[in-house]
Amino acid sequence: MALEKTFSILKPDVTRRNLTGKINEKIESAGLRIIAQKRLWLTRPQAEAFYGVHATRSFFDDLCTFMTSGPVVVQVLEGENAVVNYRNVMGATNPANATPGTIRKEFAESIEANSVHGSDSLENAATEIKFFFGDIEIVG
Ligand code: ATP
Ligand code: MG
Repeated sequence: MALEKTFSILKPDVTRRNLTGKINEKIESAGLRIIAQKRLWLTRPQAEAFYGVHATRSFFDDLCTFMTSGPVVVQVLEGENAVVNYRNVMGATNPANATPGTIRKEFAESIEANSVHGSDSLENAATEIKFFFGDIEIVG
């Protein structure tokens, strides 16, 4: 077991439906500590840069439109095996395939408006945290 940091986004479908607290409760109940958090409205260039790995995918344009359709909450989460733990708490990308009790099963609206993002590796977590937070904003 290793203490890790991962990066999380509560997506615009969460802020629109006023579900920030309910999602944070799921995160904290899973033993993850929210050690940095802020609410932002992503610009198009920020969304395109953040999801750059998906630039050639058919859903890229729609995804960037969705991610800039309202405020998001960006977070740094810390805990034992935080990367994998948070991916498990999130559930499958498509809520139809997500396990009962996961965030996406309980809250996601669709495969696109699926409520949360979580880093998929420790390396990407470090890159994504740096994209949004300075060291001074992360208080473990
Ligand atoms: P995320 O990166 O947001 O944590 P993920 O790793 O589960 O989610 P990815 O394959 O990285 O899924 O896709 C990134 C995001 O793109 C998804 O969370 C979802 O919002 C959107 N997305 C993925 N596949 C589709 C699809 N087939 N149609 C529409 N949107 C999609
Ligand atoms: Mg992903």
